[in-house]
Amino acid sequence: MVENKVRARAENQCEMCASQTDLMVYEVPSSPTQGIDSTVLLCQTCESQITGESSVDTNHWRCLNEAIWSQVPAIQIVAWRMLKKLSAEPWAQDLIEMMYLDDEMQQWAQATQAEDGREPTRDSNGTALAAGDTVHLIKDLNVKGVSFTAKRGTAVRNISLSDNPAHIEGRVNGTRIVIIAAYTKKA
Ligand SMILES: [Zn+2]
Repeated sequence: MVENKVRARAENQCEMCASQTDLMVYEVPSSPTQGIDSTVLLCQTCESQITGESSVDTNHWRCLNEAIWSQVPAIQIVAWRMLKKLSAEPWAQDLIEMMYLDDEMQQWAQATQAEDGREPTRDSNGTALAAGDTVHLIKDLNVKGVSFTAKRGTAVRNISLSDNPAHIEGRVNGTRIVIIAAYTKKA
């Protein structure tokens, strides 16, 4: 089983930060292969920040200092993608420059850039929102261009995300409007 092999390789430690608690197997998205070569063992802290479920705690990722030297391609890819997300930090840029990825690895690393490069859209609690979610408005909103106020508590079903992570779109009173994500709460 892949999980057992990955756990053996990882010596039952998170392959990013070496934590030994709440470990889980993470399939590296957009991998050219399947199985152990496209899988890493992560703790819950690393996993939730990599997937965007939790907001990124910059300091946690100092652990990549070690992870980038792994001989395991999947680990290098996950480390590289995370460093890209952190590239506003000078130390993260330094680490990326120290990494050597051959052409094939570079392609793999960048395969999810389009999806991964964007900030997740978050509601007032910081919960990541996805297209199709239902949210409630947490305050009255004056909607530009139409003659109604979207009342606090209104449910907006089947939202869509916009290019701007601060905004979502959804239908209120039959009109499709742009809503500031921070004024909503996921139902
Ligand atoms: Zn970890």
